[in-house]
Amino acid sequence: MQIVKNIIDLKNTLKSSKKEEKKIGLVPTMGSLHEGHLSLIKAAFKSCNEVWVTIFINPTQFNDPKDFESYPKDFENDIKKINSISCNINVFIPESVNEIYQDNTNIDEFELGFINTVLEGISRPGHFDGVATIINKLFEIFRPQVVFFGEKDFQQTLVIRTLIDGFFPNIILVVCPTVRNKNGLALSSRNKLLSANSYKQCGIIFDCLLFAKENYLKIDYPDLLRKIKSKIEKTNDFNLEYFEIRDEITLEHFGKSNDKGRFRGFICVKVEGVRLIDNLLF
Ligand code: AMP
Repeated sequence: MQIVKNIIDLKNTLKSSKKEEKKIGLVPTMGSLHEGHLSLIKAAFKSCNEVWVTIFINPTQFNDPKDFESYPKDFENDIKKINSISCNINVFIPESVNEIYQDNTNIDEFELGFINTVLEGISRPGHFDGVATIINKLFEIFRPQVVFFGEKDFQQTLVIRTLIDGFFPNIILVVCPTVRNKNGLALSSRNKLLSANSYKQCGIIFDCLLFAKENYLKIDYPDLLRKIKSKIEKTNDFNLEYFEIRDEITLEHFGKSNDKGRFRGFICVKVEGVRLIDNLLF
């Protein structure tokens, strides 16, 4: 396992991989790794002959400074978990923000279009521009053949697709299924910030997605929304930020686009102030 902390060393290390024409797989993360992240790393390890996991809490994708400060960090355990999959997996863990941004934490401009104007794009202004900025930098450094992202952040995968179509046409995007706990809660680094009591109740988020999948063609939309809101807000300190059904490619609202598309339910619930997002193909 190579653990690289600065760009100069990384570029030197990558030079030899390029010479040997290795198939490089890249798994970008912000650390505090759980089984969801590990599923991406395992998928990369199966299909590529050189795998790089990046661990970097990217400041430009946080619109809320408190969220950035409280974001969980667990670097030592992260390395152990990666090593337990294989000691042949490499890690890039920049030792400072400057290593990536060189004193200039400006967001680059990308034409993300309509997908950046709905759901998380509204709730977290600038978030996807920050995501596109860091991922563009990582793609330029690593020049990977294959990149691995989670369906859990489905809207993010559309942003990555846009970036790839625009600037990196040779990169293959692999979207890995959402890993959940036994109650259906999607694993997330932010789950660590919840009290034990709230954590136990969080299965209701996935239950609501299942309920919507079962009923969205039977109940009209405002009624469905009311029912979901009341299921979520039955529990103290659970607040529904949004629930929406949208086309999974264009993100047009269900009912507005031609209904031949594939639709997905998207949900965001604030639990004790922690934003939890999830989605499900209908
Ligand atoms: P993050 O560290 O939150 O930036 O996530 C890094 C990658 O792991 C992203 O591509 C996420 O979509 C993916 N990911 C996060 N949670 C899960 C999960 N529960 N199942 C599958 N992939 C996930």
